[in-house]
Amino acid sequence: MSRIDGKAAAAALRERIAAKVAAFRQQVGRAPGLAVVLVGEDPASSVYVGSKGKATIEAGMESFTHRLNAATSEADLLALVKKLNADERVDGILVQLPLPAHVDESKVLDTIDPSKDVDGFHVINAGKLAVGQEALVPCTPYGCIHLLKEELGDLSGLHAVVIGRSNIVGKPMAQLLLAENATVTIAHSRTRNLQEIARTADILVAAVGRPEMVKGDWIKPGATVIDVGINRLPPAEEGARGKLVGDVATEEAEGVAKAITPVPGGVGPMTIAMLLANTLRAAHAREGLEAPEL
Ligand code: NDP
Repeated sequence: MSRIDGKAAAAALRERIAAKVAAFRQQVGRAPGLAVVLVGEDPASSVYVGSKGKATIEAGMESFTHRLNAATSEADLLALVKKLNADERVDGILVQLPLPAHVDESKVLDTIDPSKDVDGFHVINAGKLAVGQEALVPCTPYGCIHLLKEELGDLSGLHAVVIGRSNIVGKPMAQLLLAENATVTIAHSRTRNLQEIARTADILVAAVGRPEMVKGDWIKPGATVIDVGINRLPPAEEGARGKLVGDVATEEAEGVAKAITPVPGGVGPMTIAMLLANTLRAAHAREGLEAPEL
């Protein structure tokens, strides 16, 4: 059994990206730019936005962070997105989710220029991915497929079971696995006999948001398990922070699976690396250059 080291894979990828950014800078005369928009003061979102900005700068890209207060109107947010669409220095736009309740999330996401949609949530990019065209792909599943290909090489013919069907993780994950010629089953909260289905998976992806739901006996011996879940358990004592766990009972799974991503340190670090990869790809496309191999 091995643990798939997402932290190391992400660090290596970020180094390769930084080298490609330097080459882009030399060729084009400017750095790729990523704009991140945060509305409100949600502490977790604020941390994510901070880490994204830091990673962008470390990769040699230009970072534009817009922190707006929670009362910002939908019209003002849409106006900012349009301004960023028109800004030549900006290759990628990311609006941190969730947005406050008075803002229509899908309206905002669909206002982002699809060629700058580095989160890959625009319907145009979702549609392109579904029909097998070149698209900007959501960062988390993009990171998972990267780890799977590094671990397993060719995925063709393997049975992949994806638990979760969100637009952000489950659905694009299934599309990416299909594009790699895996045989794909998508499971969700209405799936019957989930445990038996999971046990048929050569590749099991858990993207559910339920702490340690997938037990050791849900896993086929020798399977590769990708645990996307990030769940914080209630703290053991007052004042402490609860432990971070995934959707898979890792210790049980370790006795059965061939390889598994830990939480933390598995899929999480790959998400930011793929955001940088998407920004680099978007910058090349906008300059009419071929996307670099990463
Ligand atoms: P959503 O809540 O949008 O989707 C969860 C999915 O799980 C739904 O499709 C739901 O089914 C399904 N589900 C819920 N309960 C069950 C159950 N008992 N049995 C089977 N399926 C079930 O979550 P996300 O896709 O956004 O995220 C999933 C997890 O991944 C979360 O823990 C999140 O924190 C984490 N995450 C991690 C990221 C990272 O960078 N590592 C990035 C994004 C997310 P139905 O559709 O029927 O309701």
